[in-house]
Amino acid sequence: MPKASQTTIPCAQCRQPVRVTIQSLIDAGQDPQAKIGLLSGRLNNAVCPACGTPNAVMAPMMYHDASKELLISFVPMELGLPKDAQEKVIGELMREVTSSLPQGGFKAYLLQPRQALTMQGLIDQVLQADGITPEMMESQRARVRLVEQFLQAPDDLLPGLIQQHDAQIDAQFMQTMTLILQQIMAEGRQAAAQRVAEIQNQIVEQSTFGKQLMAQAQAQEETIQLVADDLNALGEQAGRAEVLGLALSYAGDEQRLQALVGLVRPLMDYQFFQDLTAAIDKASADDRARFEATREALLAFTAMVDQQAQAAVAEAVGLLQEILASSEPDTVIEENVPYLDNTFMQVLTANIQEATRRNDLNASSRLKDVYQRVMSALSANMPPELRFVNELLNAPGPEQARQLIAERAKEFGPGLLEAIDILGQQIQGQGSPAVLEKLAFIRGEIAESLASW
Ligand SMILES: [Zn+2]
Repeated sequence: MPKASQTTIPCAQCRQPVRVTIQSLIDAGQDPQAKIGLLSGRLNNAVCPACGTPNAVMAPMMYHDASKELLISFVPMELGLPKDAQEKVIGELMREVTSSLPQGGFKAYLLQPRQALTMQGLIDQVLQADGITPEMMESQRARVRLVEQFLQAPDDLLPGLIQQHDAQIDAQFMQTMTLILQQIMAEGRQAAAQRVAEIQNQIVEQSTFGKQLMAQAQAQEETIQLVADDLNALGEQAGRAEVLGLALSYAGDEQRLQALVGLVRPLMDYQFFQDLTAAIDKASADDRARFEATREALLAFTAMVDQQAQAAVAEAVGLLQEILASSEPDTVIEENVPYLDNTFMQVLTANIQEATRRNDLNASSRLKDVYQRVMSALSANMPPELRFVNELLNAPGPEQARQLIAERAKEFGPGLLEAIDILGQQIQGQGSPAVLEKLAFIRGEIAESLASW
């Protein structure tokens, strides 16, 4: 495991004590999060809880990425270490790298680490090995500078600034801004995060690119709604044949076809495509080319949906492994709460089932331990409204739920109905009619209780 230690330093700004985790060995293969931390400047850096100032700790570092045969040492000049002390530190870190290698993992590059003279130099070398050129890095830095310019601008100057930089506001710029927002949220700086989100909204509303984005999103939503209405009109008993008919009626309209795949991917199985081929064979000469194009489009969209699902599963598997490998699982869980989604829970549950089937008691008890930790982190991070709705869903019967609503619904107000609607939409996608029914009952009771208030 990567070597990490904790230290307490006085904040450079307000002198309050700040806890910093210092990591001296970054192994990109074993600990991808540490690489992300390095590239985003969060490594060996802690934000002062009292005043929000970032405090960097200068420490020697060794970066290792076996997949790229990359070993880079960095001893900050600020430490003022004499040459032999530098060599000693580097030697110790190299020994640590080689001692954790798998059998047969030793290669010549491990004998001669590259050197970085500055932190930025280290980051540049890591990025270059990822195929990111100095020009790309420079344009990324320009984007970050522009984001900072927006964040520092007073409200009344913002519209003018957006207009002035309209040409630079593109997908990559928006992505950079989102990354910065995520970073600020991860540091727990709520007020700053709120400000960034507000400015981002203004940029979306006022820039040419943002307006295009909004128009696209709206068109997409309308298309999905139209297709969902068409599906509803087919009735509850609709199956493969009806969906096939609907798909053929969309021939030539890629947007509707894509929305259809997104809504009913599971119905588009092997049999579905066989039936489609049969329909093409029977089609008139006029229709044939259009139907064939429809088949091509449906195949491409289903492949796309499946690929996204696979990528999500791979990410969830990676996160689960990281939690299992960590000596501080709760910290890893806490840092990754946004990724503890449905896919993650499915992967975790499947792993527990598999370990149980194999009779691997050790693995299954460790996985169940992770499950408990994840569930408690999730409920601790849940907004209070959702926690209350969960409590209501778990109530032993309708009477008890009604009682709880009478006692506590007023604490939350109309936000409670919103929380239920969001939860309802999530559950709708999972097909749990019993829960939906319960939720509808709860919603009705709450609405009544709030109205009488
Ligand atoms: Zn401070």
